[in-house]
Amino acid sequence: MIVEDKKVLRQMSKEWTGTHEELAKLVEKMYDAMKEAKGIGISAIQVGVPVRVFLAGDPEELFINPKITYLSSYKKKNWEGCLSCPNVNVQVPRSHKIHLTYTTLREGKEIVVKDREFKYFDAFVVQHELDHLNGRLIEDRGKAYTP
Ligand SMILES: [Zn+2]
Repeated sequence: MIVEDKKVLRQMSKEWTGTHEELAKLVEKMYDAMKEAKGIGISAIQVGVPVRVFLAGDPEELFINPKITYLSSYKKKNWEGCLSCPNVNVQVPRSHKIHLTYTTLREGKEIVVKDREFKYFDAFVVQHELDHLNGRLIEDRGKAYTP
């Protein structure tokens, strides 16, 4: 189930400090909710857990405690939707390039720290999920439009 309660969604998520087992359970819940809703990204807060973990990309990559190390000043406006804000589209300005360091899993086991650049569509998706970690929704980024 995807959380739509604004009170829950507007919380600031905390750093992930749980066990491997807890992480596997959380990620499974997020993955199932995202696939069911046909989403392209999901944050832990969207399944009601306020921790800094999200899934994004195709194939999905797991981001744990991501930190922005570079954000381009050049921005582009795109129409965005959100699994937690049904029937709302917002034109959101996002940087076209972002660098992130984050922890992830390799083959579901070993924890590795990555430093990666994301551009264009991938950059917009990770910025949308980063907003969720900080309790921000698309409607805070621009005027809501209901198609
Ligand atoms: Zn969203």
